[in-house]
Amino acid sequence: MPEVDGGIETIRAHVNGRRSHGAIGFVPTMGALHAGHASLIQRARRECGTVVVSIFVNPLQFDRAEDLDRYPRSLDADLALCREHGVDLVFAPSVAEMYPRPMAMAIDVGTLADHLCGRYRPGHFEGVASVVLKLFGIVQPDRAYFGEKDAQQLAVVRRLVTDFNVPVTIVPVPTVREPDGLALSSRNVRLSADERLLAPSLYKALQRAAARVDQGAVNAAEIERDAAALIPADERLRVEYLQLVDPDLFQPVTTVAGPVVAAGALWVGQTRLIDNVRCTPRNQS
Ligand code: AMP
Repeated sequence: MPEVDGGIETIRAHVNGRRSHGAIGFVPTMGALHAGHASLIQRARRECGTVVVSIFVNPLQFDRAEDLDRYPRSLDADLALCREHGVDLVFAPSVAEMYPRPMAMAIDVGTLADHLCGRYRPGHFEGVASVVLKLFGIVQPDRAYFGEKDAQQLAVVRRLVTDFNVPVTIVPVPTVREPDGLALSSRNVRLSADERLLAPSLYKALQRAAARVDQGAVNAAEIERDAAALIPADERLRVEYLQLVDPDLFQPVTTVAGPVVAAGALWVGQTRLIDNVRCTPRNQS
């Protein structure tokens, strides 16, 4: 059974008590855990002496109060998954524990948030960067595991630790998908049966973009248009963005001249799904 605690000082003491067991591996989550999270935990379990999971729905990164209210929460099932995968410590703080006072400081993530999710969710990545920096300060892990599913988040976290010299190794973990390609997400539980059938179209569109790049297409606007055409014209579907960006700073590319990330956000009914696929021109793979 993992040790579960919501107190910053207690979790810190537990983690420090285990430093002699080898590397501290850390998996930050917002709970509603699924096989995607499990894959991060398994990787950490293989590579580290201690595995710490945090479960915290961070209000600072929600741009819409309604999304925060509706975010799925399932602490008992989450703890069962942690136990099953050999997690040592679970840090599940309250909002008051993490934010005893409103933050006086904020992290400006700069142009990394100009496009994709950053453009459509104002303040989101500033909230992510702030909570990740706080969690790193609390847990002080050697290695921290992040999913490639949230590619722009991963890029923000990478720059956060290099820009601020945080002594942690960021480990990217490939996206876990359903058999039909839909990326696992805590938000998928909100999809109705009909919506669930429509949801994989985002991944199919992104795969099309990757195939076009592989075949030598270079005109980004044309690739994006062609990919988006695979999303059915259905009143329940709305493409928020589908764009090719560079893999480091997540700026839009106009001409593909090397590896790019095809990233998309699709509204399926009231649920917003995101996904991405790395695209590499054939002569460069
Ligand atoms: P979340 O609880 O949604 O904040 O996600 C916590 C971590 O799990 C993040 O690093 C996500 O990128 C990662 N994650 C979420 N879904 C998946 C997935 N389908 N495959 C791999 N990692 C994922």
